[in-house]
Amino acid sequence: MYIFKEREALIKYLEPLRQENTIGFIPTMGALHQGHGTLIEASLKENDITICSVFVNPTQFNKKSDFVKYPQVLSDDILLLEGLKTDILFTPSAEDMYPDGQENMRKYDIGDLEFVLEGEFRPGHFQGVSYIVDEFIQIIKPTNIYMGEKDFQQVAVIKKVLELTQSKTQLVSCPTKRQEDGLAMSSRNMRLTEEGLIKAATLQRALQHIKQGQHEKSFKSLLAEANQMLMDNDFELEHIILCNANTLEILEDFDQDIPMRLVSAAFMEGVRLIDNIAI
Ligand code: AMP
Repeated sequence: MYIFKEREALIKYLEPLRQENTIGFIPTMGALHQGHGTLIEASLKENDITICSVFVNPTQFNKKSDFVKYPQVLSDDILLLEGLKTDILFTPSAEDMYPDGQENMRKYDIGDLEFVLEGEFRPGHFQGVSYIVDEFIQIIKPTNIYMGEKDFQQVAVIKKVLELTQSKTQLVSCPTKRQEDGLAMSSRNMRLTEEGLIKAATLQRALQHIKQGQHEKSFKSLLAEANQMLMDNDFELEHIILCNANTLEILEDFDQDIPMRLVSAAFMEGVRLIDNIAI
């Protein structure tokens, strides 16, 4: 595997290869696990060259403490990427990704997507995500970009960014990889104790509880039951929201005529975990 730390070196390396090869790209913040692995495997199957980035993007953290505590284990990441036979790792510095400074970052008109659901609880988050993914796309110009449904709104945001920038890159979204107990794999799980890791699977169970009750009860009463399940397992709920899966518009109650998605975030041992399922 080739490791690039500077954008100019990567651009130069890719230039002569572009004509003859398709490029698959997976942006990550590192602390890689099997969830990232599924995206990388999909790219390896579908492209001639697979590039994975590891970059903990400062502008998408709305809390400095969360940014500082984000796990960074580059040598483990390199082992995982080499094991999968990834072609290229790109791990740039913040200075390289923000040549004009973080405070002068380009902004994107992504409409309501910026402010609804996760956006309401993490102000500025989706502007940071939009900038960094677009910046990577401008450097790499991938044929395909692979993203996980675990970050459901992020997929919608990047679709919008690709549209705004009239990019030729195709977005491929991949299903959420889970542990056997249902817990969505996440780099943040590393910050949990052994006990916290077991209790964390309740978030998925709470979402499933709402899904299974949809024909018998209202969303409101199922939400109260789900919240109780979470509290019994020491979770602190931030939100469980029912929305239109296509427009992300918030729904007050189930509507069987439209595709629905349940999105959620909750704190376990002070760590913010997210999950979502199709209804
Ligand atoms: P992150 O490193 O958390 O920013 O994630 C990088 C990419 O991997 C994003 O597109 C995520 O949605 C995706 N991802 C993270 N966890 C999972 C998972 N458990 N299953 C599938 N994709 C995932």
